[in-house]
Amino acid sequence: MADRITPGRIKTNNRQQIYNYIYQKRRASQQDMLYALRLSRPTVATNLAELEGDGLICRSGQIEADQIGRKAAAYSIVPDYRAAVGVEILRAKVKIIAIDLYGDKLRREVVEQRFAHEPAYYKSVCAAINRFIDALEVPRDRILGVGISAQGLASEDGRSMVYGAILGCTGLTVDVFENEIGLPCRFFHDPQGAALSEIWVSPELKNGVYLSLSAHLGGAAIANRQIMSGKHGHNSTFEHIQVKPDGDVCYCGKRGCWDTLLSRRALVGDRTVEEFFEVMRMGDAEAVASWSAYLRNLGALIAHLHLVYDVDFILGGHLAPYFTEADIRRLYDEIRRLCPFDEADDFIRISKMPSHNITVGIALPYIRAYLDEIGVEEGGGDLA
Ligand SMILES: [Zn+2]
Repeated sequence: MADRITPGRIKTNNRQQIYNYIYQKRRASQQDMLYALRLSRPTVATNLAELEGDGLICRSGQIEADQIGRKAAAYSIVPDYRAAVGVEILRAKVKIIAIDLYGDKLRREVVEQRFAHEPAYYKSVCAAINRFIDALEVPRDRILGVGISAQGLASEDGRSMVYGAILGCTGLTVDVFENEIGLPCRFFHDPQGAALSEIWVSPELKNGVYLSLSAHLGGAAIANRQIMSGKHGHNSTFEHIQVKPDGDVCYCGKRGCWDTLLSRRALVGDRTVEEFFEVMRMGDAEAVASWSAYLRNLGALIAHLHLVYDVDFILGGHLAPYFTEADIRRLYDEIRRLCPFDEADDFIRISKMPSHNITVGIALPYIRAYLDEIGVEEGGGDLA
């Protein structure tokens, strides 16, 4: 039988529409909803009272209700009615963030702790996550889940690390965290987290390739605003395509992968990124040569990938904010040198979200899933 429109469904639909409207507008009056949603005044009033009573929305001052300047009560959603947590495990520290229903940061903490693939380390990290959650103003039962990345590849279901050669955590299972934290947890490949943030802040982004240029090279392909996942968990691992058979040894054990040419170390050596760009912009010959080689290599990588994916390329990660317009033009020069087609210069851009992109990104799937469940359409997120 076809879906019947029962009174109960209409009621749910009205409530969802009203909540969705307030979420998208951020602040809205009852009058706005009457016009925009074509609902009757009693229907809107009853639903607003219910949503307010349930704690999902609140009054937030007054807004102009008509052209002659009369004011009406404004309603907003309660952004931290639900929250999610993102945890990025790195060699020397653990970054933790909590975000609300708009993807905005509620709290952030960096715990200095050296990684060790052993139970005592994980127990201590879980204790830090638990302390972080307890310090939030959001009750624990309103935390939707904890996304975790550990510089490696996660299984399709996010339950285990299928490849963790950077830290040496291959085979780690997510129960280690769930048992201590008592909330749903899930592993994500870190560049996928960064790409998820980019999708959230870029309503126009449909298809693309996200390149993460940080300590290591990483990437994610985006198709129809979703991360392209793989059959074996290693989709878009461009960093291990071998380009120099006799090149340096990559952390994967093979020689001359893209990562050996485009890692942070390959560019800056023992300097910090800040120091490197400072001396390079002042004309230090060695640094200038290193940056030229980096741009040439990155141009070549994009040229190759661009022949496979004729989409927008987004440069993210720690190095991305240092690119100038002239640097991007040099990437296009290299791409034109290598590609057989007349190449336009409209498909490379710098990430809109340079900081906290991984931690926020791996928390976002919990938020998106919740918003989907309560009928909130995409597009209200604004992290910028
Ligand atoms: Zn490799």
